[in-house]
Amino acid sequence: MNLRIPGPTMLPPQVREALSSQMINHRGPQFAAMQAEIVQDLKHFFQTQNDILIFTCSGTGGMESAVVNMISPGDVVLAISVGAFGDRFADLAKIYGAEVIHQNFRWGTSADPEAVRAVLREHKQIKAVLVQHNETSTAVTNPLQEIARVVHEESNALLIVDAISSLGAIDLPVDEWGVDVAVAGAQKSWMIPPGLVMISVSPRGWEAQAQARTPRYYFDYKKARSAMAKGETPFTPAVSLYFALQAALNLMKQEGMRNVFARHIRVAAYTRARLKDLGYQLFADEACASETVTALYNPPGLDYKKWRKLVREQYDTIIAGGQATLVDTVSRVGHLGWVTEVEIDACLDAMVAAQRQLASESANRVSVPAN
Ligand SMILES: *Cc1c(COP(=O)(O)O)cnc(C)c1O
Repeated sequence: MNLRIPGPTMLPPQVREALSSQMINHRGPQFAAMQAEIVQDLKHFFQTQNDILIFTCSGTGGMESAVVNMISPGDVVLAISVGAFGDRFADLAKIYGAEVIHQNFRWGTSADPEAVRAVLREHKQIKAVLVQHNETSTAVTNPLQEIARVVHEESNALLIVDAISSLGAIDLPVDEWGVDVAVAGAQKSWMIPPGLVMISVSPRGWEAQAQARTPRYYFDYKKARSAMAKGETPFTPAVSLYFALQAALNLMKQEGMRNVFARHIRVAAYTRARLKDLGYQLFADEACASETVTALYNPPGLDYKKWRKLVREQYDTIIAGGQATLVDTVSRVGHLGWVTEVEIDACLDAMVAAQRQLASESANRVSVPAN
């Protein structure tokens, strides 16, 4: 199988083997040692000295945890959105009672730091800025370094980053850029199944956490930090996923962080170049095209549902559809985690072959005499 969606991603054999480990006591010394090792490795890949918290939940749970720990009802929050996940972050903050300034940029483009600056100057009371590092729905990477600089120059607002489809694949030096909360998700770059989020919290983040008045229970950062200091988690964690994460981090360390980032840059450039060569039109502006996922316009005149079905059934290859308003417009190829040019070649070959097959079927249909 060639699972080429932007998460969940394929599992290396070492990770699959780790997943079959016998269960252990999640309040025992073996778990404590494993968690300590994982946290050390995550600090390396987040490039941070900040505290790292781990929760058992999907990526959206991680986003929700950031909102309930950092924001109080009535707080003015700037939600920068370049796609469906940006809209989700804005909705989340709204639901918890924040006064959200929703700054939208055209889908397929990235956020403009100078436009962000203008909003921060106009609204001095902004307490937090929510932004995606990589917007998976449109296959766009935001200029997070520049956005972070603008946020810190113009305000004291907290910078809360959904890095679910970037951290572990795209360079994101959390401390250097001053990211207060960064959220990563297991099933994207980390080569393990869905079910864990990994979150860094800065000292400024902890101050805000102590002040924030939104009710929280499962996702209480303070409770998580105290439990993790004792080698535990507040509630029963997905222990098997910890085994998997430990194995995956070992693979990532063997490859080397810089090499992991370089491979993603290389494979992304390769994917875009080959797609264009094959005559496909890319959705995102080239200047902000993502290193973890590529969106392409569905070929005109082709029944895209039949196309992706044929790719799946005949070639055992799964590509993703479009999200929200892009559902009929684009398909997406994931190239994050355990991936090289080999899987991209196989995927693109399958897409082209299936397209030709559908085209010749419809040509044959037309040429059959209508007696
Ligand atoms: C996948 C993803 C999420 C949500 O993850 P779930 O695990 O589906 O909740 C959030 N943000 C981004 C940028 C993502 O790619």
